[in-house]
Amino acid sequence: MPTIAAGVIRTIRSGGYAERPMTLRHHFRSYLEGVRREGRYRIFADLERDAARPPYARSRDGSDCRDVVVWCSNDYLGMGRHPLVIDAMVKTARRTGTGAGGTRNISGNSHAVVALEAELADLHRKDAALVFSSGYVANEAALGTIGRLLPNCLILSDEKNHASMIAGIRASGAEKRIFRHNDLDHLEVLLRQTGQLRPKVIAFESLYSMDGDIAPISRICDLAAKFHAITYLDEVHAVGLYGARGAGIAERDGVMDRIDVIEGTLAKGFGVVGGYIAADAVICDAIRTAAPSFIFTTAMPPAVAAAARQSVAHLKKSVAVRIAHWLQVGKTRRALRNAGIPIMSSQSHIIPVPVGDPDLCREASALLMEKFALYLQPINYPTVPRGTERLRITPTPFHNDQMIEDLANALCEVWDALRLPYEAIRPVPMLRPQSLVTDASRYSLIATVLGNPGDRHRPGESSADLLSFASKFTPAGAGLLPGEVQLVGHSRQIGQG
Ligand code: PLP
Repeated sequence: MPTIAAGVIRTIRSGGYAERPMTLRHHFRSYLEGVRREGRYRIFADLERDAARPPYARSRDGSDCRDVVVWCSNDYLGMGRHPLVIDAMVKTARRTGTGAGGTRNISGNSHAVVALEAELADLHRKDAALVFSSGYVANEAALGTIGRLLPNCLILSDEKNHASMIAGIRASGAEKRIFRHNDLDHLEVLLRQTGQLRPKVIAFESLYSMDGDIAPISRICDLAAKFHAITYLDEVHAVGLYGARGAGIAERDGVMDRIDVIEGTLAKGFGVVGGYIAADAVICDAIRTAAPSFIFTTAMPPAVAAAARQSVAHLKKSVAVRIAHWLQVGKTRRALRNAGIPIMSSQSHIIPVPVGDPDLCREASALLMEKFALYLQPINYPTVPRGTERLRITPTPFHNDQMIEDLANALCEVWDALRLPYEAIRPVPMLRPQSLVTDASRYSLIATVLGNPGDRHRPGESSADLLSFASKFTPAGAGLLPGEVQLVGHSRQIGQG
C-alpha cells in the first residue's frame, strides 16, 4: 500500500476533523483503483455452506439467492459438517458458554484446549503441542520466537513458503536465506556456506497448496542431519488427509520423528479453526512463554477446541473418508484430462488449472458461477506470481460422479467462451469398473495415502480386497458412522461401477 505523503499528513493534522476522512478516503480510493487496474481487486462471494447437503452452499447476491456447488473449499474432507464434530461443538458450548473468557494468561487453560493439545501431541508422536488462534498465528509465533531466541540463528526458507512463515521469519529478526523451491542442491549450497556450527532452521512446507506439489521431506532431513540444522515443517494442507492416522505427509513418508517442529491447522482437513505446533516440550514451553501472539490474545473457545479434538481423534482411526476423497480426486483429474482442460501436474489432492491472466481468470470464475452455479474462486497475484493465475479445484468425498461430469462440461463451455487454450487431449480411458481398484498404480496410490507405500497391488485383487485392505487400518470399523459406512459403500460402488 502506498504510504501517505508527508504533505497529506500535514493537511490531516492542520485541516481539522472534517478534512481528515476525506483525505484518507482520497488516498485509499486511488490505491484501490490501482489494484482494480491490475486486475487484483478481490470480490468475496456471500455464501452459506449447507451442512446437510455438502458440497452445496447458498449464494446471495442482493435479493437473489440460489444453491451453488462449491469446488474450492479447504475443508477438504468435509469434516466441518461431520455430525460428531458438530455435536462436540454444540454440547461444549452449552456446557461452558461460547468464549474462552480471556487470554490463557488471565483465564487459565480451558480443559478442552488441554485435551486438544494432548490429542495433537499424540497425533504427531511428539512430547507436546501448543494451540494458537489460527495456522497463520502459529507460524508467525513459532518461527518468530525460534529465530529470536536462538542466538545468531539463520533461517533457510523455501521460496514458496506461505505468507505466515515469511511473517514469522521477518518478526524474528533472524537472518534469512531463501532456497529455490524444493531444490536440494541449492539448499545444500546454502548450508555448506553457513558451516556446521551456526544455529540453523530449515523452514518448509510438506504440500504447497497453490501448485499441489510435495516436498522431498526425507532428503531435506538428511541435509538437516548432515549440517546440524533444525527442521520446521508446515503440514497445513496435509493434516487429516495423509498418513495412516492423518498426521500428514511426514507420517506417510515415515519421517515424522525426524522433524523438530510440525505446524498444522485445524481449519482445513480437520474442518474447524485454529492452528498448532507439535514439538519437544521445551520448545513448546519456550514459545508459550515468549511469543506475543500467543500471550496477548484471547484463547481458543472451548467449544472450538472440543470440535477440533473430535475431528482429529476421528480421522486418526477412520480411513473411510480418506479413501472416498482420493477416489473422487482421481475421477475429477481424469474427467478434466479427458476434456482437454489443462491441469498443472500435481502430486496431491489439489488440482490447479492454469489460466495465466488475471482478467480471464476472474471472468472464468464469474461465468462458472453465473451460468453453471459452480463456485470456483480465481487465484490471482499476490497469492500466485503474475502470469500464473489459475483456478484451484479441491474435490471432496461429497462431489459425486454427476457433479464431476458437470464441472468438466462447464469448464469446456467457459474455455470456448473465453477462447482459452485446451491441452492436447491425451484420452485417459475411464477405467473399467473392476479395474479402478485392481489397477496397480491406483492401488499403490491408495496404499500410499493409507501410509503404507510399501504395499503393492497383486494381480487378481478386486475392490473387495481394497476394502479389506483399508479395514486393516480401521480397527474393527472403529468410529465409523452410518454416513461413513455409506462412503465406504460408495467407494465399493465406484470400484464395481
Ligand atoms: N500455512 C499455509 C501453507 C497455508 O496455506 C495457510 C493458509 O492457507 C496457513 C499456514 C494459515 O493457516 P490458517 O488458515 O489456519 O490461518
